[in-house]
Amino acid sequence: MSKSGKCHQCETNLDKIAVGLNKKFLGRNITRFYCLTCLSNYLEISVEDLLAKVEDFKAQGCKLFD
Ligand SMILES: [Zn+2]
Repeated sequence: MSKSGKCHQCETNLDKIAVGLNKKFLGRNITRFYCLTCLSNYLEISVEDLLAKVEDFKAQGCKLFD
């Protein structure tokens, strides 16, 4: 298992939100994590939209962002 503490691409430190979004979009068993900026580029979604999705996931009872 590789560390999940830093972005695979730019080595930015990851927060809980970024890690949760990676798991949501890329799967729970992923070993490479991206920061919000790199993830938004990868998914072709704006960072704003990603953060809006976090609120949606929370509202659905998702525990990844607690
Ligand atoms: Zn990054």
